[in-house]
Amino acid sequence: NGTTLDDFEVISTIGTGSYGTCKKIKRKKDGKVLVWKELDYGAMSETEKQMLVSEVNLLRELKSPYIVKYYDRIIDRARTTIYIIMEYCKGGDLATIISRNKKDSVYLDEDFIWKILIQLTQALQECHQRKNGRAVLHRDMKPANVFLDMDKNVKLGDFGLARVLHHETSFANTYVGTPYYMSPELVNNMSYNEKSDIWSMGCVLYELCALHPPFVASSQTELNRKIRLGDFDRIPKRYSEDLNTIISKMLHIEVTKRPSIEELLADPIVVGRRAKMD
Ligand code: ADP
Ligand code: MG
Repeated sequence: NGTTLDDFEVISTIGTGSYGTCKKIKRKKDGKVLVWKELDYGAMSETEKQMLVSEVNLLRELKSPYIVKYYDRIIDRARTTIYIIMEYCKGGDLATIISRNKKDSVYLDEDFIWKILIQLTQALQECHQRKNGRAVLHRDMKPANVFLDMDKNVKLGDFGLARVLHHETSFANTYVGTPYYMSPELVNNMSYNEKSDIWSMGCVLYELCALHPPFVASSQTELNRKIRLGDFDRIPKRYSEDLNTIISKMLHIEVTKRPSIEELLADPIVVGRRAKMD
């Protein structure tokens, strides 16, 4: 493809995350507003660069109305920077909603949480159950990576790249912030798998209900202990038993007893809800 940096105009910087900067951009030919994520690969080894390229190629194949749409990538060799161009999500992210509601002491409507639950499940289905190819794991599901569109539909972003950019094999480097969403198997230094994404999704949904993560602690050691025990309070009592049950299933400490995405979608609670929503 012949896309170059010159095809775009930078409108503003949205923010800088743990491994790059996101900018709001405009495509010159038609004025379409998009974002790009700038990643400096200058310090990467050949192997890491190869991994980054293959992960970015995978993003292109993920097609779901509930996943941030990938458009293109530009590699600027002089600046050792890759620009990943994607859909601009102007509805904000779940982290912003959670902190706003927490500040105002207002719980979110149960219907809104079900909508997020169903759509996130569908987004993960697209990645975990790929017809031809290996599963793509999200690896960094957190409220800040779940965007909303104007109609409050989910747009899951920041797929897969965490593996390359965070060096998941080295525990200490894995997370920059407090790893509230880290699954018990990761706490125990086992490898990341599809079920770890399910756990993180359970944490995100729990936080939407309670306005705080299921496991909180003031030190890493204490947090690890709580996660291993899998001991959390019920979501606030204003929420239904069905919602509590399904979120609790996602937060099962044993990988084998935690449902896969297929099992979640086949769960009568989820099936019943979807029937009511469509
Ligand atoms: P983080 O490590 O916090 O996820 P990112 O680099 O992914 O950092 O994002 C930086 C900022 O850009 C965040 O405020 C995020 O909400 C925003 N952002 C990322 N992707 C998009 C997008 N597709 N549309 C709109 N805002 C985005
Ligand atoms: Mg992000």
